[in-house]
Amino acid sequence: MQSPWHADGPWLRCSLHAHTTNSDGELAPRALARHYERAGFDVLALTDHWHRSEAPSGDRLLVLAGVELNCLLPGDRDGHVLGLGIERDPSELAGERLELAPTTEWITDAGGVAFLAHPYWTGATPGTLELPETVAGIEVFNAGCELEVGRGLSAVHWDELLEDGRLCGAIATDDSHHPGFDSVHAWTWVRAERTREQVLEALRSGCFYASSGPAIHDVTREADVVEVHSSPVRSIMLVSGRTIGAAVNAGRLGYRHGGDVLAESDEGLVVRAKLRIPDGARHVRVEATDVSGRKAWANPIPV
Ligand SMILES: [Zn+2]
Ligand SMILES: [Zn+2]
Repeated sequence: MQSPWHADGPWLRCSLHAHTTNSDGELAPRALARHYERAGFDVLALTDHWHRSEAPSGDRLLVLAGVELNCLLPGDRDGHVLGLGIERDPSELAGERLELAPTTEWITDAGGVAFLAHPYWTGATPGTLELPETVAGIEVFNAGCELEVGRGLSAVHWDELLEDGRLCGAIATDDSHHPGFDSVHAWTWVRAERTREQVLEALRSGCFYASSGPAIHDVTREADVVEVHSSPVRSIMLVSGRTIGAAVNAGRLGYRHGGDVLAESDEGLVVRAKLRIPDGARHVRVEATDVSGRKAWANPIPV
């Protein structure tokens, strides 16, 4: 997986899951694009249900055509899959709900990148998901699912995949249907030039991180130590296998477990920390949480 902190190019703030009047969203595609452009985004993927939506890109905002398809997950569950950057019309599938693998094969054949949407909201059982190689990753956080029913965070689903050795990336999204109310809550920072091809390639290769607030400025690894530089946060964690990990927490009595704070902000929050990779770890991922409970999630590093 390509580390975005060891890549070249600008950081692009990307909204990768949003609906328009072409399915159950409130704004037409052009109006939604203007909304995200004004909000300071660099990339918007339109992901209507079973409809390939498009809008012109602006001076700043690159618009990607996309789709959200239904598929069959194990246990006869209804899954949702994002197809970002597709160049073919999903009407080819005639609304047929296929299993995850053929669904995501169609997406990749259509030139797109596939991410499994909101597994917690869907009801997928953690530890039972199998991601075919045609799936680039999952949504670790979906703001709409959080705002509506409190099932936006799918970190357990992600960690169980990682525990199984399936080192995939994770994005954070709005899944906006009512812009202004359910938009600009979660996004994905992609490190790439602002072209369709470069953004899709970065999404395929893991060259991004997800956020609902904090910024992660740098993640570097040397031997068994990971150093993280972030915006001011109350904690930085190394999440790893079951029962193992490392963490630093802010404050005079801030708990340290396998890590040290290297620098604090004026308010005493953590901005730089080093964390030791625990014995037995096969992978680690960095997670930062700010004082409002908003998070940033970096993609896994194999150990
Ligand atoms: Zn969905
Ligand atoms: Zn959706």
